[in-house]
Amino acid sequence: MLLSIVVPCFNEEEIIGRFHDQVTAELSRFDGEFEIVYVDDGSRDRTLPLLEGIADGDPRARYVSFSRNFGKEAAMLAGLRAAAGDAVVIMDADLQHPPELVHRMLALHAEGYDQVIARRTRTGDRVTRTLTARAYYWAINRLVDVELVDGVGDFRLLSRRTVDAVLELTEYNRFSKGLFAWVGFKSTTFEYENAVREQGRSKWTFGKLLNYGLDGLLSFNNKPLRAAVYLGMILVAVAFAYAAWIVGVALVNGVDTPGYVTLLVTVTALAGVQMVMLGLVGEYVGRIYYEVKRRPHYLVKATNTRVPAPREEQE
Ligand code: UDP
Ligand code: MG
Repeated sequence: MLLSIVVPCFNEEEIIGRFHDQVTAELSRFDGEFEIVYVDDGSRDRTLPLLEGIADGDPRARYVSFSRNFGKEAAMLAGLRAAAGDAVVIMDADLQHPPELVHRMLALHAEGYDQVIARRTRTGDRVTRTLTARAYYWAINRLVDVELVDGVGDFRLLSRRTVDAVLELTEYNRFSKGLFAWVGFKSTTFEYENAVREQGRSKWTFGKLLNYGLDGLLSFNNKPLRAAVYLGMILVAVAFAYAAWIVGVALVNGVDTPGYVTLLVTVTALAGVQMVMLGLVGEYVGRIYYEVKRRPHYLVKATNTRVPAPREEQE
């Protein structure tokens, strides 16, 4: 059996050498072959020369380097395309995903699971972060039709057929967490204690998280649009009821002119609702715009391996 480890790396010069040593040491216990596919996502530090050095010294290491930063989703896609293994484990380069858990994943995979998902506990996270995450997942699971679980990320083992299925999905806007859930197959989840990042910095800012959250909401289906339609209908119903009530009051008490505040609040509130709905439609149109351009997900600058083109381009 061949196991592939896919590692997206963006500015990870401080830790990448240690990562390689730890993973290879850990996998020496594994009785099968393994390879490590590093994807340098346009790092601006010395990550690429370090990867070249690693690949020179270890034939099990391969690397793909992007022309610029294309994002972790693109890096994972390139890694999955390049991976040749019967099973693939996706892992962060910052050692926040403990390498020893790979054995646990392999054991569960041997029991017949196509996806073995590691779910991190939120110990050590700030309370605000934990609470927002909980609220977000509560809301999103009501709106999208795949199940998204808090704490579940990209740290997981995928069987060959799962990887092939994920690679069939060639959409431009990739929300992997949802794509993995979408393909299905027999999967299982186990919990692990999340390690604190030792070197380098997390690339997540609040703005990025917010955008990621919106992507998750909008990448899957048109339920948000459906919700907008319902909201519109409710507002119309409320407006009709209110109009009837005003007419009723006018018939009983005579015409009553004041209403400045009511008018102002109604107009601004409705304008707000309309802007949000328009933005929502715009988001979908924007997504279509990106999809129809069919630009590649990434451009390769340097590599010591072959990255197969997406399926449809081969045909
Ligand atoms: N990463 C990447 N491209 C990016 C941002 C991050 O390939 O644009 C990689 C990064 O090198 C790391 C993994 O994705 O291996 C997770 O990133 P990070 O540790 O910053 O995220 P966090 O652990 O805070 O969620
Ligand atoms: Mg990290």
